[in-house]
Amino acid sequence: MPAVDTHPSSEQGLENKTYQGACFCGAVGISVTGAPVAAGYCHCESCRSWSASPVNAFTLWKPQSMRITRGGEHIAGYAKTSKSHRKWCTKCGGHLFTEHPGWDVVDVYAATIPDFPFRAGVHVNYQETRLRIRDGLPKMKDLPKEMGGSGETLPE
Ligand SMILES: [Zn+2]
Ligand SMILES: [Zn+2]
Repeated sequence: MPAVDTHPSSEQGLENKTYQGACFCGAVGISVTGAPVAAGYCHCESCRSWSASPVNAFTLWKPQSMRITRGGEHIAGYAKTSKSHRKWCTKCGGHLFTEHPGWDVVDVYAATIPDFPFRAGVHVNYQETRLRIRDGLPKMKDLPKEMGGSGETLPE
């Protein structure tokens, strides 16, 4: 039998692939290149409030992996805390990404880059969930230890 590559997105060939994204109206274009540091779902109150949805599908990238391809003059930002600098388009209000300077990553919402083959690896801040998702993935109570969390997991 031929060998099956079970990690197509993290192995050869895709390191330099670029995925296109845009805000709701299309005035602001962004792209991400390579593979994200992590991808999954965040259930925290901040994500739910900001995204106006029960859960946020995130992809975390090194800042240098993301580019503004057009319409940078239409990007505005809001930082409720110094941990998260949230960016959106001033023409349509559509959300784009959140910079997390303390972690040296930028969260490009999966919905903003439909081109990217999103594959979740983890759920975070599950203690705050309003929508339980029984997909068999690990459910972190808050955040992984390396991001300052407890590293504990919860039942689905
Ligand atoms: Zn827009
Ligand atoms: Zn969150």
